[in-house]
Amino acid sequence: MDDQGARTRGFNTKLSHTGRAGKRVHGFVNPAVHRGSTVLQPSMAQRKEFQTARMEQELLYGVLGGPTHWPLEDMIAEIEGGTRCQIVSSGLAAVTVPLQAYLKAGDHCLMPDSVYGPARGFCDNFLSRFGVETTYYDPCITPEKLAPMFRPNTTVLYTESPGSHTFEVQDIPGLAAVAHAKGAKVLMDNTWGIHFFQPFKHGVDCSIQALTKYVVGHSDVLLGSVTVNTREDWERVRGTALALGQYASPDDCWLALRGSRTMGVRLARQMQSGIEVASWLAGKAEVLRVLHPALPSCPGHEFWKRDFTGACSLFGVVFQPQYSQEAVNAMAEALDLFGIGASWGGYESLALPTHVTRTAGSGNFGGPMLRLHIGLEDVADIIADLDKGLAALKAHKA
Ligand SMILES: *Cc1c(COP(=O)(O)O)cnc(C)c1O
Repeated sequence: MDDQGARTRGFNTKLSHTGRAGKRVHGFVNPAVHRGSTVLQPSMAQRKEFQTARMEQELLYGVLGGPTHWPLEDMIAEIEGGTRCQIVSSGLAAVTVPLQAYLKAGDHCLMPDSVYGPARGFCDNFLSRFGVETTYYDPCITPEKLAPMFRPNTTVLYTESPGSHTFEVQDIPGLAAVAHAKGAKVLMDNTWGIHFFQPFKHGVDCSIQALTKYVVGHSDVLLGSVTVNTREDWERVRGTALALGQYASPDDCWLALRGSRTMGVRLARQMQSGIEVASWLAGKAEVLRVLHPALPSCPGHEFWKRDFTGACSLFGVVFQPQYSQEAVNAMAEALDLFGIGASWGGYESLALPTHVTRTAGSGNFGGPMLRLHIGLEDVADIIADLDKGLAALKAHKA
């Protein structure tokens, strides 16, 4: 942290003043991009020991990170309320690194049924080969119902709130209390919550973010972060990231830091547009339910109200069951302002018809689904475009 008291500042002030360059680059506002593998040491006497340097922001070799990684690490730790952050190569790496840090052969992991698809794939197809067993739980489960799912060897309760594609908001403090009582660590994918959810104030031990989304904000960089709040957790996460050879390009870190400077205004605008569009859709006859955590129709809305201070602009729409998945696909194709594509958090709107895997009995959503990401376009234009899309939905003949 640059100075005392910075912790109490507002989100937008933090985004403007964390991770600046200052005197280190001759007074320029922004840190420079430092590319490098070898770091020359002044003398053998001054060459730091790898074991001490590797846990700190110290230069010894490029893979440990350097002066372009550190300001971004500081920024993410600051906005999530943690102490240390590890930047990794993608959001998916931010999921897989801590899972490997906290699980070993013979351990058991609890995963929400609504987890980001590739995280499910990692547990089922990769961790399983290393003797780690995964059980999926209903993301809307109560702490009382979750408690009996813990086994003596359960070391990780993984959470993602709201869930990917279906947006169930979880009772994180309630579930975390159970996990801690059972001696397990609580991991959370906080990509949707960014800073609207403060993980370490709600019992999370390790917070994951795909910086690829709103932090980068321009759909041109893949990057992830793993943030923790204790020395013990830091040693596990940092040690595992280094053991796996995790590294991110300084150019990408620089772009992410640049993106973060405007994230506050982008998020404010996108939150407002997202709620406006979601509310408009909720009033349409073709729509069965809107899965936006800020609307009462979303499962776990009460936990969003209790634990979050805002919302990003990613949400789901469930259409009436008489419409087919093909009709929803036709709607997505009829949109001009929405691209059909994965990822989100950029300045542009996206529409993605969704198919989800569910194995813990939370799979009936009532109709075909579409995930929307609302960008920075004017809301009136977005709504006019969606109106055209609804016409295509209705016109579609099976
Ligand atoms: C996109 C996403 C990721 C993965 O991020 P990438 O940078 O695309 O690998 C992880 N978790 C969630 C919830 C995501 O939406």
